[in-house]
Amino acid sequence: MYGKIKDHLAAELKNIKEAGLFKNERIIKSPQGAEIALTTGQEVLNFCANNYLGLSNHPRLVKAAKDTLDSHGFGMSSVRFICGCQDIHKTLEAKIAEFFGTEDTILYAACFDANGGVFEPILTEEDAIISDSLNHASIIDGVRLCKAQRFRFKNADMGDLEEQLKKASETARFKIIVTDGVFSMDGNVAPMDKINELAKKYDAMIMIDECHSAGVVGKTGRGVTELFDIRGEVDIITGTLGKAFGGGIGGFTTGKKEIIEMLRQKSRPYLFSNSLIPAAVGAGIEMFNMMEETTELQDKLHWNSEYFITKMKEAGFDIKPSKSAICAVMLYDAKLSQDMATKLLDEGIYVIGFYYPVVPKGEARIRVQLSAGHNKEHLDKAIAAFTKVGKELRVIK
Ligand SMILES: *Cc1c(COP(=O)(O)O)cnc(C)c1O
Repeated sequence: MYGKIKDHLAAELKNIKEAGLFKNERIIKSPQGAEIALTTGQEVLNFCANNYLGLSNHPRLVKAAKDTLDSHGFGMSSVRFICGCQDIHKTLEAKIAEFFGTEDTILYAACFDANGGVFEPILTEEDAIISDSLNHASIIDGVRLCKAQRFRFKNADMGDLEEQLKKASETARFKIIVTDGVFSMDGNVAPMDKINELAKKYDAMIMIDECHSAGVVGKTGRGVTELFDIRGEVDIITGTLGKAFGGGIGGFTTGKKEIIEMLRQKSRPYLFSNSLIPAAVGAGIEMFNMMEETTELQDKLHWNSEYFITKMKEAGFDIKPSKSAICAVMLYDAKLSQDMATKLLDEGIYVIGFYYPVVPKGEARIRVQLSAGHNKEHLDKAIAAFTKVGKELRVIK
């Protein structure tokens, strides 16, 4: 009986709207890319996709997906361990392990599932998870689903991490430090060199979520383990095929052989959810082939990020320190972030203003995401629009 709860939900929704926190979706009618068309008729430059390498509509990936539809069909109608594993699933898993310099890989429908299913199979109440306070929602959910003791350290704060490791050492059998590689709202990179030292000192494993760093950071895009020269030293890496790596769908956990083997036996989102569709797998394989051939896309992305951030700072904007393809333009005021994003859309620049609870109170911002799909003209247009609107709204002089 859908009775009283209807009114209750309607009232809650009204509250969300009145608080100005209701999420409206802008509707795109073109493929994803640097230049997109909206259903309003506007043609705008996109600066808020996770399309870091500009691969979301790359002809080679589109063709690979089509070819795989022809060779391997549309769906698997099964989880992996019953009858949902094709040769291409094994090929993609091997390619991911090769890319990260790890021992083995397990695929999931999404990284949300990879993170949701990574802790519970390997840790119990005897063990401890020491997690960065800004870790992604899916890590938080994964930790909740596991009985291990929980410790939290302040974002990238190595003093606090050491404190928590000391505390955890008093009671825990096994310990694992868990961190995002790049934190998506600020663009800062986890200090993996120091985390690695502390992990050794306190005999803890390391898990990194590379969703915003894989394909992006490091000279060849191998992620934060490349940036800090600790390839092969990290126990667990999770990542997505839904951001830099083509923007489609799919997640993975890659790392130590026994851990991956145990996940195949016990990880619930793997055991009880459908196998990744062949077209996504085929496109994934082609994407890793492209990564092996050249670092052209990384070179372009790194140049674009450096150029944009430098120019925005020169224009007078307050930019969070970033070593990634994320540029957080700090505005501090929630309404200002919304007004600025609206005015920028009128100037043909599609960006989104973020405010509490997505970011801490009083830290509203516009997050710009750079892409190898942007050319210099796109960047200059965005910088000019930011400067114009920034002056109008007295964000800069
Ligand atoms: C996007 C993201 C995820 C979820 O990835 P999906 O494959 O889209 O489910 C997990 N962790 C982090 C840090 C992310 O940014």
